[in-house]
Amino acid sequence: MHLPLLVALAACSHVTGANMVSSAADLDKMSARFAPTEIGADLSWLPASERAALVKLIQAAKLIDGLFLRQRWSGSEALLLELAKDASPLGKARLHYFVINKGPWSALDREMPFIPGAPPRPAAANFYPPGASKSAVEKWTQSLDEPQRKLAMSFYTVIRWSPERTGKFQIVPYSQEYQPELASIGSLLKEAAVLTADDALRKFLNQRAEAFASNDYYQSDLAWMQLTSAIEPTLGPYEVYQDEWFNAKAAFEAFVTVRDEAETAKLAKFGEQLQDIENHLPIDAQLRNRKLGAMSPIRVVNSIFSAGDGNHAVQTAAYNLPNDERITHEQGAKRVMLKNVQEAKFKIVLLPIAKVALDPKDQKQVAFDAFFTHILMHELMHGLGPHVISAAGRATTVREELKETYSAIEEAKADISGLFALQYLIDKGVLPKSMESTLYPTFLASCFRSLRFGLTEAHAKGIALQLNYLLDQGGFGVSGGGTFFVNDSKVKSAVTALTGELMTLQAHGDHSRAVQMLASLSVVRPPVQKVLDRLTQVPVDIEPKFTTAEALLGAQSGASQAR
Ligand code: ZN
Repeated sequence: MHLPLLVALAACSHVTGANMVSSAADLDKMSARFAPTEIGADLSWLPASERAALVKLIQAAKLIDGLFLRQRWSGSEALLLELAKDASPLGKARLHYFVINKGPWSALDREMPFIPGAPPRPAAANFYPPGASKSAVEKWTQSLDEPQRKLAMSFYTVIRWSPERTGKFQIVPYSQEYQPELASIGSLLKEAAVLTADDALRKFLNQRAEAFASNDYYQSDLAWMQLTSAIEPTLGPYEVYQDEWFNAKAAFEAFVTVRDEAETAKLAKFGEQLQDIENHLPIDAQLRNRKLGAMSPIRVVNSIFSAGDGNHAVQTAAYNLPNDERITHEQGAKRVMLKNVQEAKFKIVLLPIAKVALDPKDQKQVAFDAFFTHILMHELMHGLGPHVISAAGRATTVREELKETYSAIEEAKADISGLFALQYLIDKGVLPKSMESTLYPTFLASCFRSLRFGLTEAHAKGIALQLNYLLDQGGFGVSGGGTFFVNDSKVKSAVTALTGELMTLQAHGDHSRAVQMLASLSVVRPPVQKVLDRLTQVPVDIEPKFTTAEALLGAQSGASQAR
């Protein structure tokens, strides 16, 4: 799953009314919502063997883009070639925005086509036979025997018209549908496997190359879960969002990343503190877990290159994979956090938001370290607090009892208890005292970032709840000029109170209280709306420029020319 932390959902107001035949100036304005930003990382610590392997992985990832374009729409590649030939300002503007969106539809404008002649984005993408209806495909899958039906709905097959029998469908494995590209990508993975000195990475790369040929991804997904290498590649068919018919078919994506040493060490340090944090949660002692279970793996990495489904429109900042339930049932999913992408978004989006939303004294306190450390703690706090509970004498779970309110309440809990836990570690001396002054203003600014796209998903609903609760408790306040500030004397107790309130609600499986809290607090009040209305000039997201990857590839081609 890609994480909704930075998902944009709504149309942006200043381009509404744009029609299909946009001018070069219109298109440039639409592109400018994605601020071009350098994405790279220091690789001086990386052994030469791993740097050489990295080059092969970037080359492999570059081939993923073509596959993804074709998976979204059969006409993508031809249109891209046509656009690339047009040297006029309009042609260049179209090409630029096409490359950002990986297609002729504007993701920020409800997928509006922006190139004349482009069709509406097909809901079936290019996974099902052209011209076939959803109901016909559905009826056909239901007529199949169980093994065939499973294959038809597999992540790794497309459905095509049968060449032999008119009007009939057939199942085509990815290994056949995308054979030439997958063979090239597989060869590059095998070359990288020869170069790396890391056994676990070598195993993953070889098994993934084999999966491209055999169409069986299970062993390579398992090998991916076990990776702890300096290079952390995610490359293959993964997310099913592009298949809007059945959410069955996986789109190709690639993230070529390297481990972030400092944050990996920080995570290990936090891991040792979790039971102690649980033992000090502001809830009834009986409601705490005496022994926390094992956590799903988390990796903090820096992105070197991304492609395909992993690089279009609003950039992915973190993901949970794999989606194969055979693996997630046994081992959970691995969460990968792209630190340098988060940092870019922080600079390009969050700092400008803080300038609009916060009092000057608090603007200065907004800091990336506090922002990222809170995201890490948010993830860890999902594992703490009540999960398996008893309600009216029955053994049950928070998720079952809270039903449709579960996600918003759980996200709010992870945020607010994340602040509580960081304050606890600051007070304990595990984290530096200096973090305290940055923690709350940074969270306040990030509330506005999350609310910018409306109260459409669980994270934003949870954020609205927290913001209004902290305002009501006096932990945050609104100045005469309409900007927001942190009230140092009240914010800590308000954070503790809300942590206790949400976790107690969860422990009791109190659905009606959850409904009541969301109804009264998960709203955008007028002072908040006034700030949101003033954010239209702040970029929505970044357009990544992979400088480290280009330097690596440049050094490689320079070397081969010199030979
Ligand atoms: Zn979360």
